[in-house]
Amino acid sequence: MTLRTLSWLKEGLISALFPPSCAACGALDSEPFCAICAQQNEWAPRFSLPEVEQVWAAFRYEGPVREAIHALKYGARPELGLRLGRAMARRLPFVGEVIVPVPIAGHALGARGYNQARELARGLCGCVRPRALMRRNRHQEQVGLDREARRRNIAGAFAAGPAAASVRGLDVLLVDDVITTGATIEACTRVLKEAGAKGVRAAALAYTVSGF
Ligand SMILES: [Zn+2]
Repeated sequence: MTLRTLSWLKEGLISALFPPSCAACGALDSEPFCAICAQQNEWAPRFSLPEVEQVWAAFRYEGPVREAIHALKYGARPELGLRLGRAMARRLPFVGEVIVPVPIAGHALGARGYNQARELARGLCGCVRPRALMRRNRHQEQVGLDREARRRNIAGAFAAGPAAASVRGLDVLLVDDVITTGATIEACTRVLKEAGAKGVRAAALAYTVSGF
């Protein structure tokens, strides 16, 4: 049996266990959102971040999209990542030669069992390099910090991972679930450029428009 057949079988099994349903309300309807939820979702506005060549998010972090991300992160629903990633891919305005998901802290990975950004990245076309970046465990939670404090706190949270050499000389597409202040994306971009990435663009499923 080839690897391709295996992954096809795995996907078949997952869709049998979790028949395609709305990622927010669970209604058995179109992908990844039902018609009612899809109507409530709003596209994210254009925005930019210093040090990042281009940055893009599909939706505003509100309503059904927010519900779906919550289910992906806290509802033990990794399969939602692939479906939401495919929805992202349909509108993604740029690509990268390699895709690097923003890593999550070790304790979060231990509790959740998967990195939601990596699951989203699986829905995008291209080769995913999850070990190009790593997250250091010892840093303060971002919740409750203002923009400047977040930026300072996050700056030292990422480092080159064991597969950092795999981005050398290449255009990288950095992927995350939600962009809030952009401090995480900027910190990861810095590490990827130090590792020799030719360029870094970033894409997320959602953007917190207010900045917090
Ligand atoms: Zn729905």
